[in-house]
Amino acid sequence: MMEKHLISARLRAVKPSATVALSDRARTLAASGRDIISLSAGEPDFDTPAHVIRAASDAMASGFTHYTNAAGIPELREAIAEKLARENGLRVDPGREVLVLPGAKQGVAYACLAFLDDGDECLCPEPSWVSFRELVTLAGGRYIPVATRAENDFRLASGELERHVTSKSRMIILNSPTNPTGKVWSAEELEEVARVARKHDLIVLVDEIYEKILYDGRKHVSLAGLPGMAERCLTLNGFSKAFAMTGWRLGYLAGPARLIEPLLMLQQHTATCAVSFAQKGAVAALRGDSRAQDAMVEAFVRRRALLMDKLSGVPGLSVWKPEGTFYMFLDVRGSGRSSLEVSEHLLENEGLAMTPGDAFGECGQGFIRLSFAASEKTLIEAARRIDSGLRKLTGTRG
Ligand code: PMP
Ligand code: GLU
Repeated sequence: MMEKHLISARLRAVKPSATVALSDRARTLAASGRDIISLSAGEPDFDTPAHVIRAASDAMASGFTHYTNAAGIPELREAIAEKLARENGLRVDPGREVLVLPGAKQGVAYACLAFLDDGDECLCPEPSWVSFRELVTLAGGRYIPVATRAENDFRLASGELERHVTSKSRMIILNSPTNPTGKVWSAEELEEVARVARKHDLIVLVDEIYEKILYDGRKHVSLAGLPGMAERCLTLNGFSKAFAMTGWRLGYLAGPARLIEPLLMLQQHTATCAVSFAQKGAVAALRGDSRAQDAMVEAFVRRRALLMDKLSGVPGLSVWKPEGTFYMFLDVRGSGRSSLEVSEHLLENEGLAMTPGDAFGECGQGFIRLSFAASEKTLIEAARRIDSGLRKLTGTRG
């Protein structure tokens, strides 16, 4: 007799989220009384701006607590379309080409479910955020990693993306600025992705959730704005990172109606709509002043500089300077240990939680991801613990 499984084959193929699981573990250890610093989760440590909270709480107090349009309240869809025109040079019809989501993550799930049949392939440059692979797999698709390397500044080698295209290829997922490396894709690199997508008629899911967190005068370029790309791009963004609104669970997708409409149907059947009063807060976030956002980015600039300084000279460690995001992808290959060994050692012996790099793809082996969404004081102590841990692991005296 065939063995019966409680869990579907689809879900059995999926791994837990290393980022979420490790953050939960760090929280549990801290609750048990251990002195734990957690730099594992990608979550801004700032408060949601006060005017955003006010708009949502006013909405709630006035009874705006019921279902909304499945695609999102018209006001928010308009504010999103205005934002995309103003900041990204993208023209979308707020009536048919914008979908408000209960978190950007949901948008990745919808796109995979909508556009991948069993065995269809989705290409993704790696290292990449942990959920891309698993959501492609959950949808029955084949996730095709395209490796990049720190030695090459995480740029795709020439022709590398196209080399992975087959007759089964349907979609590319691109995330710039990139979690976990902090790489920002240049206009020239994006043009190569666009060329491959156009030539092979592929959809591109472009995750721009870290677009605001850029360093050294870098400019964010939206792939959907390149010639011939608006018709095949789904631009994904959200409020978690740009406005420190992770717990609000709010994101959005924009793209041509032929790609948005199937996703709306998925939303109707799964979430119905995003949280009503959170959507009112999001309107205030997009239409209000950006002082809180500017201050947040300035703090990240200082923290990045602080860490670059404190981590220089740590034995077995080399640091790729991030161009955007609040992550650092620390290269610990010099310690002679695996990502997991280093991160377990740092958690068990130094009380410091960071995500092992191989959770972001095989080419992340030998790295660990640090999130510098923490106070300078915490980061100074974290750097001391990294130094202490790596000295012990490499047998170097302090
Ligand atoms: N994309 C990337 C690259 C992320 O790092 C995250 C993590 N939060 C998300 C999407 C999902 O964000 P949200 O909180 O809006 O679901
Ligand atoms: N995106 C963040 C991270 O990479 C939050 C956790 C998650 O959603 O994966 O840590």
